[in-house]
Parts: sequence; structure tokens; C-alpha cells
Amino acid sequence: MWHAKAQPMARMGLRPFAATASKGKCEKVPHETVSVSRSLRKITPMAYSRLRRIINKLEQLQIMGHKLRLNDKERQANEVIMAIKNDEINQGKLDPTKFTPGQHIFQTLTAIRKSPIFKIIKKMPKGGVLHAHDTALCSTEFLISLTYRENLWICTAEKDKAIAFRFSVDKPTMKPMDKCKWEPMCELRERMGDEEVKRYLRRRFSMYPFSKFISNNQAWAHFMGIFILLDGLLCHAPIWGDYYYNALKEFAEDGVQYLELRSLLPPLYCMGEEMLTIRDTVAIYKSELERFMADHPDFIGSKLIYAPLRGVEPKVVEGYVKTATELNKEFPDFMIGFDLVGQEELGRPLIDFVENLLKMPEQIKFFFHAGETNWFGSPIDENLTDAIMLGTKRIGHGYAITKHPVSMGLARFLDIAIEVCPVSNQVLQLGVDYRNHPAALLLASNVPIVISSDDPSFWRCAPLSHDFYFAFLGIAPVGADLRFLKCLAMNSLRYSALEGEEKKVAFAKWQKSWDKWIDDLVSEKGC
Ligand SMILES: [Zn+2]
Repeated sequence: MWHAKAQPMARMGLRPFAATASKGKCEKVPHETVSVSRSLRKITPMAYSRLRRIINKLEQLQIMGHKLRLNDKERQANEVIMAIKNDEINQGKLDPTKFTPGQHIFQTLTAIRKSPIFKIIKKMPKGGVLHAHDTALCSTEFLISLTYRENLWICTAEKDKAIAFRFSVDKPTMKPMDKCKWEPMCELRERMGDEEVKRYLRRRFSMYPFSKFISNNQAWAHFMGIFILLDGLLCHAPIWGDYYYNALKEFAEDGVQYLELRSLLPPLYCMGEEMLTIRDTVAIYKSELERFMADHPDFIGSKLIYAPLRGVEPKVVEGYVKTATELNKEFPDFMIGFDLVGQEELGRPLIDFVENLLKMPEQIKFFFHAGETNWFGSPIDENLTDAIMLGTKRIGHGYAITKHPVSMGLARFLDIAIEVCPVSNQVLQLGVDYRNHPAALLLASNVPIVISSDDPSFWRCAPLSHDFYFAFLGIAPVGADLRFLKCLAMNSLRYSALEGEEKKVAFAKWQKSWDKWIDDLVSEKGC
């Protein structure tokens, strides 16, 4: 009987299983290549083109946003956007040195601001930012403006290098390092000149001009140094609230209506030696949010993810769980999640903390950073496994996940969105050319993603627009259009911690802004 089936298999170069199996388990079977292209040589041109169409269609059907239907107005807007996008891509093909997603952001920041597609994205209602950190949100200009506040002292080391700030009536007594001298900020300005101080701080508050570090460890050391420098400036109770309020304002101006913020929740200091509690830090956030919502009724809101440092002993995490539980009890609609932060490669892997993390109450959701590395197969990659097993709602970065098809499949199956932060990945040295970003594979295979900005302050980027711009022009397929952008915006609400009625309200507020933006786009033709 099997002869009848074996003949067509043999024609295709395949060896029938029964013939090979009978030779015994360990006997070597000669390998014969199966050439599909050879087998298609005899088909008609029409059949070839039909098969080709089917394969391409199958590819396209999986791409994120492809199934979204646009209404008439949106279709008109899409024509405007795609004409401009194609122009920018064609120019890039002619002269790749002018294609900004192929280069480092520090070299192209000014050029991008002039890009017509960037201008469109800037005005687009992009939904929410779901991955951003407490003291890396506001523009450099705002940070500099804070240094003019009364009673600010600066500690400088050799060559006037800024080491720390502190608000105090009298000279601060604490010493951040031995050779550091405190002086009032106003005296430093008199001594060095206002413009020179501004120029210096503009550089010191960001990663500029360093687009290349020896390694990503060095990039991380520089990056963490900015957080440390900003501590004394921002962890002063009155400033903490102002900083958050201003962040919400800058985010809203960039077309962001919702912010899910990760914070270390540091205890804040008052003038003098008095320290507030972690609970007070959350209360300040909450009251500033209420003030902002009263001033900006179209804004959707903000929620908090408690995200302390990961480079600690496992028993410290027990304390984290206790703190998170208490805070969630007092602020159940606001403090809703937990994560661990700091360089994954140098911190401890999640597996070290699993025992304590499993004690976290069910209503506190996990949003773990995982797989922010280029070390394939390292314990950092395995953070992806633990994050998924611990029931993470989203994965922060997940840069390594495309090397793990099982984790990728689980993310798709369990509907876990990957928080992709393109500019952060570039500045922290995971890759340069956005066209090679692993998120391309995620959206090509329909793993849910959201786009976020991580620490936009440190790369002098807009709160979200630059990351959207690179996702649209660099990471997504050339043909990705308004459906892709709309899908990203909707995903940012869909995969947020918003629930029930508040999610419905969120979508309604976003839709209202979206419809207006589409109207403007059609009537202005993208100008
Ligand atoms: Zn992050």
C-alpha cells in the first residue's frame, strides 16, 4: 500500500519514513536537500503569482494593526500621512546618511524636529506612556529652572564638577564625597557666569554628548550618575510635587493623556533635617494628580508602580512586598503595581526573589523589567521566564524576547504586552539602527507591544513623540500606516492598569482627541 504514497514523496526528494525507520535507530541516513524552488519550476506563471500573493498576504495578516478598519476621514488622513512618510523613506533610500532612524539620536535630534512626519506624530493623541521613571521625565529646561529656586546649594568637586544639590537655609552638613565643597547656587552663578552654568547643567543633566561608550556598563554608570545627581534637587518635598505636575503638563503637550509611572518612592526631605515617609511621597503624587486633573479635564489620569532597586539581598524584597501592600491598601486606585529597577545585568535575577514575590497580594500587578540585554542565554534572559511565570501584566523592554520563541509565544497567548522603548535601547547601547530593533519581529508576528520612552529627560527627547517616530519610520514595515499608529495608541490604553469604567472613560477621552486630530489633519493636509 505505501508504494502508492511513496512515489510522489520520492519525486519531491523525500525519503519515506518506513524506509528510513527500518534501517535501525543509530544508522546514518544520507541527507537529501529538498528544494521547493525546483519543485515550483514547472508551475504556470499564473499559479506562481497566485501562490506568491497568498504567502505575502499571510505575512501581512499577522502584522500589528493590519486588521484595523479605518473610517472615511481616517482613510483621507492616511493618504496625507503615507505621502509624507514615503517621501521621507525615499529620501533615505537615496541618501541613507539622511535617514534618521539609521543613526544615533544625539546626532539627529535637531533634524528630527524639522521632519514633517515627526510634526504629525507630535500632535497625534498617542494614548498613554506605560513605561517611564520618576526623576527622568521633565525637559532639561525645566530642570535648569529648578536650580534658580531659593536656598539651593551645590556641591562641586575638581574642575567645578557638580556632585550633589541640597535645599537648605544653612550650609548642608552631609558630605556626598570627600573633595566636594558646598556653595550657594547663586554664588556659583556669580563666579562662573549664568550662561556658562546653564551650558554646563544642560550637559550634566543628560547623556549628551556621549553617543558611544566603551560598553553598555559604562553607559549605565553614566546614566545612574544623573539619577544620583538629581536626588538632592528633586527629592525635596515641594520640588517633588512640582516636578510631577510639570511632567504631566509636558506629557499632555506631547499628545499623551495618561501616565503609568514607575517610582523608587524615595522618602523626601524638608528644609532642615526632617524626612517624610514613603507614604507621604505617594500622597504628594496623588494630590498633585488631583490638582492637574482639575486644571486639565481632558487628561485621563496617572497610576503608580512601586519600583525599588533590584540590586539587593532577597530579604530586602520581603520589605518591598510589605511596603507595596500597605501603600496599595491606602491608595488602592493609584498605587497599583510593582517592579524592580536598575541595570538587570548587574542586579540580581528575578529567580532570587521569587519566594518573596509570590507573597504579593493578587490585586498588586507585576510589570517587570525583563530581558534588557544583548547576552543571549544569560540569567537576564531567564528573567523573561520568571516575569511570565509570576504573572507579569506587561514586560519592560523584553529586548531579548525574540531569541526565545516559547516566551514570545506565551506573551502572545497570555496577552502580555512588551513595553518597547526604542530611544532608551539605543542610548543604553543595545543597538544603533532602529531598522534592526527586535520589536520589528514582535509586530511582524503579532505579539502585543506598546511604545514608551523610559527616561526621555536624559536624552532630551519629547515625552513620547521621538519613540513613536522611530517605531513608525524605523522599526515598522515601510508600508505601516495610520492603522499601525492607531493600534499603538489604543494598545497603550488596552494594556494599561486602567479597569472597567475608568478604561471606558479613557477610551472616550482619547477618541475625542483622536477624531479632532484626524479632522485637523484632513483639513490642513498635514501642515
Ligand atoms: Zn525602565
